[in-house]
Amino acid sequence: MPVAILIEFETLTALFLAVGITTVFGLWFFYERREAILSDSRRIRTTFLCIKCELIYTRPRQRETAPCPRCSFINSRLKF
Ligand SMILES: [Zn+2]
Repeated sequence: MPVAILIEFETLTALFLAVGITTVFGLWFFYERREAILSDSRRIRTTFLCIKCELIYTRPRQRETAPCPRCSFINSRLKF
């Protein structure tokens, strides 16, 4: 009887360890991916100059046109 309890205890310990390690690695992977996606969208911004009201504004991601936030005139992106 004590042997059976010991095996069960070891199995439970191994199971808890496996679940714990999987959780830690899962969260690590998840936050790493999320951070990469977030920093990409923060880094890649496109700059626009409104030719109607001369406002300079940016929009996330690469795009060719975006409406002006002040006068909603659709401008094409600034090329440097
Ligand atoms: Zn404008």
